[in-house]
Amino acid sequence: MATALARTHEAYDVARVRGDFPILARHVNGHPLVYLDSAASSQRPRAVIEAVDHYETHCHANVHRGVHALSQAATDAFEGARERVRRFLNARSVKEIIFTRGTTEAINLVANAWARPRLGPGDEILITWLEHHANIVPWQMVCAATGATLKVAPIDERGELRFEAWEALLSPRTRLVAVGHVSNALGTVLPVARIVKAAHARGVPVLLDGAQAVPHGGADVQALDCDFYAFSAHKLYGPTGIGVLYGREALLREMPPWQGGGDMILSVSFEGTTYNDLPWKFEAGTPNISGAVGLGAAIDYLETLGPGAVHAHEQRLLAKATAAALGIPGLRVIGTATDKAAVLSFTVEGIHPHDLGTILDHEGVAIRTGHHCAMPVMDFFGIPATARASFACYNDDADIERLIRALHTAREVFS
Ligand code: PMP
Repeated sequence: MATALARTHEAYDVARVRGDFPILARHVNGHPLVYLDSAASSQRPRAVIEAVDHYETHCHANVHRGVHALSQAATDAFEGARERVRRFLNARSVKEIIFTRGTTEAINLVANAWARPRLGPGDEILITWLEHHANIVPWQMVCAATGATLKVAPIDERGELRFEAWEALLSPRTRLVAVGHVSNALGTVLPVARIVKAAHARGVPVLLDGAQAVPHGGADVQALDCDFYAFSAHKLYGPTGIGVLYGREALLREMPPWQGGGDMILSVSFEGTTYNDLPWKFEAGTPNISGAVGLGAAIDYLETLGPGAVHAHEQRLLAKATAAALGIPGLRVIGTATDKAAVLSFTVEGIHPHDLGTILDHEGVAIRTGHHCAMPVMDFFGIPATARASFACYNDDADIERLIRALHTAREVFS
């Protein structure tokens, strides 16, 4: 195993990968940029920028409706991207791949089209304490509208789900389990295989929020056996404003459309309207065509690097950065799960995370500070915020050295 990992590392040419990302050549505040905020939004490789540019320059028109050449080119590009996503997620059919604005809209789609019509007083939705607000608030809204109850499974001091406590909350009234695949605030990888198995044993469908999982190695929805899977392109080296909801076809078929308008219909009259087939039934209005093209190119790019090789590279960086950070007096790592994605959340005694972020920015080091849209996680640890460095395919050892040096500088400023 160690030899295989070492080989993967040798084979992984991070200098070449960095060369694929034009933005990494820029300076910030007089220093070469160190970008450690990929969990919020990753940067785009030239392949994605050029695919979007090529589409805009040569192919753009509206999709699905035109007989002219450009409309057909745009439709081919858009539907080709859908097939690309299907293969990436290993979904059975393109009918199961719905383009959305991102993870947030994907979860809201399930909340509105699956949960709202089905749930009533006494029903329960089970989430965890680790969720991003995008996997909390839509369920609170469903509960407010239907009288259902939101149940929240606890975590422990390492930031891991207390699985037995989660399982104990699965009740005969649980109608849906919604859970993050990877926590954005802490990096914890949740035991989603066990979760799906336990929920399915009781006939409960499972939605996985894959926003933070997909960039670190992809996802196989058939292997996961989940019912819904959501992710955003902009964390996967793709554009903003585009994401995906995977849904099991049988469930999607039973769901009414969420939004009405063009493209989601077969025919409209004042006597009645018939809805389009899957997946278009859930894609009202002109979609983000160039975004889909960019997402397809981003998936191609990640697959060229090899998701496994990227994962191994990031894990090596995470281990190195964690060890180096622990050498800084007063630094506390928040989130020490055994299985973690490449996210290092921390606090430094006597320095507010926002001040840390500002000082690091002066040094050209971009990290994220705040509650990371996961306020319950912050409450659990009794802190208002953390500083978070997150690693992607293009980060290298020099980035870690710059991060650690900038943290020492921050300590000196505040001593
Ligand atoms: N879930 C998780 C775990 C996330 O990290 C994010 C983005 N920070 C979201 C959901 C929401 O993604 P988006 O803003 O792209 O819709």
